Amino acid sequence: MDRFGAGGAVLRLGGAPLPLVGRARLYICGITPYDVTHLGHAATFVWADLLASVLRAGGVEVSCCRNVTDVDDVLTEAAAARGREFSEFALYQEYLFDKDMAALRVTRPAHQPRARHHVGQVQQLAAALLAAGRAYRRDGHVYFRGDGLPARYGLDEDHARGLSADYGDDPKDPLRDDPFDVPVWRPSTGAQPAWPSPWGPGRPGWHAECAAMAMSVFGAGVDVLAGGADLAFPHHAYQAAMVEAAASVSPFARATLHVGAVHRGGTKMAKSTGNLTLVSDLLEAYAPATVRLFLLDRAWAESWEFRPGDLDAAAARLDELYAAAGRPGGGEAADAVLAALRDDLDVPRAVALAADHGGDAARQLLRVLSLT
Ligand SMILES: [Zn+2]
Repeated sequence: MDRFGAGGAVLRLGGAPLPLVGRARLYICGITPYDVTHLGHAATFVWADLLASVLRAGGVEVSCCRNVTDVDDVLTEAAAARGREFSEFALYQEYLFDKDMAALRVTRPAHQPRARHHVGQVQQLAAALLAAGRAYRRDGHVYFRGDGLPARYGLDEDHARGLSADYGDDPKDPLRDDPFDVPVWRPSTGAQPAWPSPWGPGRPGWHAECAAMAMSVFGAGVDVLAGGADLAFPHHAYQAAMVEAAASVSPFARATLHVGAVHRGGTKMAKSTGNLTLVSDLLEAYAPATVRLFLLDRAWAESWEFRPGDLDAAAARLDELYAAAGRPGGGEAADAVLAALRDDLDVPRAVALAADHGGDAARQLLRVLSLT
């Protein structure tokens, strides 16, 4: 097998080489467990799973962390609307999510931290940012100074403000020194969950939750930060900036895997739009391996339009690969299949090689893509 390592091949991700030494640390931004899993979520987690699988096939030890954002105002409101307590409601949604992930053969991550178990670490993070002069206290809040962050990501301020507002942030909040400051800690009112803190009873901000969970599991840095493309800004930008400011280590993420959004009817699949395709519904009509190949047989960074008929094409392609795997030979192309996958996770090229050469090459592909 063509392995990673001294003198060996190096993974390319996002067009740049990602040499790895020892363990690969992969942080995957997980779900807010308030609703069922749709195809957009599934695409992100299946791609992250493939990245881990490709690394493991090259002999790299991979450690995956996929958090659960179970302290979130959207979740609190969804639970309250059903008369349920937020953490108990979240656990049931997690159970449904885990079932979908298992069906799609996504390997269970070694670490699955929950936000509500890391409130103490968010407070430590807030204290570290205050000590570093990168945060300030105001009326029960601790705000992280985010001025300059849009420019670092090549965004003009209007665009960045829109992206932040899309995720429920309030750049017009008059308490802030700068519209791009965000809460690490904020006071809770009414039915919102609250924990005691040096700044009064409150709850963590979203970006701070992921920053604290990543630091708790991996320390100051990760090799790959993965999530949907829409998380690049603001969520991952702030998560990275907070960790870097608190730990004085940069960059927080050596590479990112921001998976292209799934659209339906020309619009990004989202609960707010109502154009959802649920994984559980697809799995009633198609084999899990078909859905998995359907998600993977494309360029990971590009957004794409969901067309139900394309699943039939994926089913036919999968049958073709199974038939190819039954042929003898193919050993000459087995390493080329791995090389294609290592080259920015080029699944379409790997699939074409496997179908053409068959035998060992096809079996290699089916194994690494977890389609067997
Ligand atoms: Zn996150």
